Amino acid sequence: MLETRIKQTLRDVADFPKPGIIFKDITPVLKDAALCAEITKALADQLKGVKIDVVAGIESRGFLFGLALAQVLDVPFVPIRKAGKLPYKTIQQSYDLEYGSATLEVHEDAFTAGQNVLIHDDLLATGGTVVAASKLVNQLQANVVAYSFLISLDFLNGKDRLNLFSPNTFSLVSY
Ligand code: IMP
Repeated sequence: MLETRIKQTLRDVADFPKPGIIFKDITPVLKDAALCAEITKALADQLKGVKIDVVAGIESRGFLFGLALAQVLDVPFVPIRKAGKLPYKTIQQSYDLEYGSATLEVHEDAFTAGQNVLIHDDLLATGGTVVAASKLVNQLQANVVAYSFLISLDFLNGKDRLNLFSPNTFSLVSY
């Protein structure tokens, strides 16, 4: 089963980036080309029946399968980046972290009004990051029609926060 193989390939790194956190490291997955191809196909299969105009991936690990997924779906890819990285005019959205805050940005011409956007990231934890990304999509009058993750940490209940924007939340691996 794909979920089992992904789980067996992921690496748990203790105390990264802070003491007490067990980080799900996807780099061993990226080294397995056949597994990556299967993951991209499975992410696309989950979205059958959802009309998607654009895939938006979140810096930086959301770029990896985000672009691959956009290619399979044959739609444009938009990078949502941390503050100060995008070269052209941007809109911003700040969000709270456990300690302090962070800001995401997207180019002001990234989406057009009424477009259906899929937001992709490698991992859903509390949902704070993708909620901020969703607000960027809405600021440009586009709609969030689904979320796609490689990994969902279900015990943190991030999905509940996403329901406000879209009830369609997909992941290949849950904990
Ligand atoms: P959230 O905003 O709490 O949902 O955190 C999700 C964001 O943190 C995503 O952009 C992830 O890439 C990153 N993240 C949090 N924990 C992990 C982890 O264990 N492995 C990889 N990325 C993580």
